[in-house]
Amino acid sequence: MTWETVIGLETHVELATRTKIFCSCTTRFGGAPNTHCCPVCTGMPGALPVLSRAVLDYAVKTGLALGCSITRYSKFDRKNYFYPDLPKAYQISQLYLPIARDGAVDIRTPAGDRTIRIHELHMEEDAGKLVHDPWTDRTQIDLNRCGVPLIEIVTEPDFRTADEVIAYLEKLRETLRYLGVSDCKMQEGSLRCDVNLSVRPMGSTGLGVRTEMKNLNSFKAIARAIAHEADRQIELIEEGKRVIQETRRWDENKDATYAMRSKEDAQDYRYFPEPDLPPIELSEGYLESLRAAQPELAEAKRERYRRMYGLPEYDCRMITSDRALAELFEGLVELGAPPKQGANWIMGEVLGALSARGKEPKDMALTPPTLARLIALVGEGRLNRNTAVKVFEAVFDTDGDVDAHIREHGLEQLNDDALVRETAARVLAADPRSVADYRAGKEKALGALVGQVMRELKGRADPRAVNAVLRELLAQ
Ligand code: ADP
Ligand code: MG
Ligand code: ZN
Repeated sequence: MTWETVIGLETHVELATRTKIFCSCTTRFGGAPNTHCCPVCTGMPGALPVLSRAVLDYAVKTGLALGCSITRYSKFDRKNYFYPDLPKAYQISQLYLPIARDGAVDIRTPAGDRTIRIHELHMEEDAGKLVHDPWTDRTQIDLNRCGVPLIEIVTEPDFRTADEVIAYLEKLRETLRYLGVSDCKMQEGSLRCDVNLSVRPMGSTGLGVRTEMKNLNSFKAIARAIAHEADRQIELIEEGKRVIQETRRWDENKDATYAMRSKEDAQDYRYFPEPDLPPIELSEGYLESLRAAQPELAEAKRERYRRMYGLPEYDCRMITSDRALAELFEGLVELGAPPKQGANWIMGEVLGALSARGKEPKDMALTPPTLARLIALVGEGRLNRNTAVKVFEAVFDTDGDVDAHIREHGLEQLNDDALVRETAARVLAADPRSVADYRAGKEKALGALVGQVMRELKGRADPRAVNAVLRELLAQ
């Protein structure tokens, strides 16, 4: 029998607000244990939560970007469970009236385009972290993360392959970053996802019994966990056994999943409406102002770049892979740079410089006018491409003054034909060997000669002009 894998995802996203969801403590990552806390986020009796406006804005923006309908009257609920990382013994979350519902995300995979339906999106608070010290055999608690705002995005069971899951997560990450609502760093836990998976005979429409896998902190782990868990379930069923609904933990090192606990039902959490927070009522005016402020997202930009500038698909993808890069590109074009030139500089020099420095696009100093000036100088023939790259390197970190740098280092391209001609003649006279090689049909010899002339002129000549002059002299 052939089997079909069915997957639904629950993704937790840590929001990039400055402060926590119900108090004004910082959300900064790290910090000495238990220093980013107050009576509210450590759950002291009598302390009262107040919802952060920024968290609400971010959740609504995300809901809008994922095509959800926004719940005009929503509420918080208490999800009760006892675990030492949660001092209140309940998490404030949303069960009955989540802030957004019924969205859709279009994904593209090698096997084709698909739409993944979003079941709902809700706001909740994060819990603390338990740190086990094997040396003293004790567990310590760090509550810095308690009360950090999260949104949980739950899909319908619409995925059939690991490729689709990863395409969805990449799209989600791109969207969240464009919105500026999260940095989505998987290694810091700001994007974490639980994978619910079941299998069923190909062609059947009912759902099989699912397991939920936690602790997946990279795309690689997700893909491997999906493959292993699908195999495990198929094997069980083929042996005449049953899949048990449970939560399993993926062990990265052992490449296997382990049962953690039997799956809880909503009733195990004894949910009830959070009495300390009033319901949230959203006005049409509020929603309208957020809709109007939504940025253009990556997909729309790609489409527009293709249409308006005729850029290749690959270029469109690269320069929209990050909002700061796309904004740099748009700035360049606005300042008159030819779009393809702008794209080439971004894909080559800009991305190269960033990766050499381990920096992210949003943290770069370089502004559109600086790079546009460099591109214009190359276009006018006042700077050759190689020298321009050197100038780029010099101004990149501080957004330095291109013209001043060129002046100070005497880098402007030599457009002195007589000097180029004279130097070329001298080089030919001094290197009869290369001349003979070239005349014997070895094209490569010309490259070596161009190099020598360029060196003589300290790289300031236009290599195309040098090439032409050499050919002319060699033909005589
Ligand atoms: P819970 O509230 O117990 O976490 P939900 O019904 O909210 O369960 O579903 C959680 C996730 O599991 C959703 O993404 C949903 O699409 C997915 N899911 C539910 N049933 C199945 C199933 N049989 N196979 C695969 N995924 C499933
Ligand atoms: Mg769940
Ligand atoms: Zn606090």
